[in-house]
Amino acid sequence: MFVERNIGSGHLVSKGWIEVVAGSMFSGKTEELIRRLNRALIAQQSVEIFKPAVDKRYSKTKVVSHNNSKITSTPVGFVRDILLQASHCEVVGIDEAQFFDDGIVEVANQLANEGKRVIVAGLDMDFRGIPFTPMDRLMSIAEYVTKVHAVCMHCGDVASYTHRRTKSKKTVVLGEKDIYEALCRKCFNESRKAQSKT
Ligand code: ADP
Ligand code: MG
Repeated sequence: MFVERNIGSGHLVSKGWIEVVAGSMFSGKTEELIRRLNRALIAQQSVEIFKPAVDKRYSKTKVVSHNNSKITSTPVGFVRDILLQASHCEVVGIDEAQFFDDGIVEVANQLANEGKRVIVAGLDMDFRGIPFTPMDRLMSIAEYVTKVHAVCMHCGDVASYTHRRTKSKKTVVLGEKDIYEALCRKCFNESRKAQSKT
């Protein structure tokens, strides 16, 4: 089980580690990331938050959750930028990590090796239910992995899948409730089947 460490000490984090928060869209990944980062801020730890510059859905410079909690972030074009910009801080938050390339794995390791607490949030599967690289690799190297779940928009059960309601086959299509819905395994499989027939 994940237990928040080094919270409230106010001291430098001496040993680094990686935490991953993974799940479907609307599962509360960003909410959970913001909650952990806010607690680090309360503990007076120095915090930097990054998100991929391609994700401009709500705000260019803020990480915003679907229930509208926010935290100021730095948009980055390349994963390497994170290393430079996080050099001074103790806690590093990264949202929408699935939009970064594989370099994020090495960057997360390097930051943790430098003694930082690295908290990464992102989609674990794409719209086909296939593991989303590099999140799968980040989950492998992390000390702590938390899977969060949404509510199935068809039956109200626990949802782990992100269903794309349109027929585009591109892996990345930026969108919200207009394009995506959270579904449980059964409703996801039924929807994919019905979609393939149309
Ligand atoms: P994520 O980052 O995983 O996409 P957020 O943290 O941004 O999720 O948003 C979570 C919030 O989304 C919930 O607190 C709730 O208000 C809202 N929400 C909208 N649709 C759903 C759903 N199907 N299941 C759960 N929460 C939902
Ligand atoms: Mg999010």
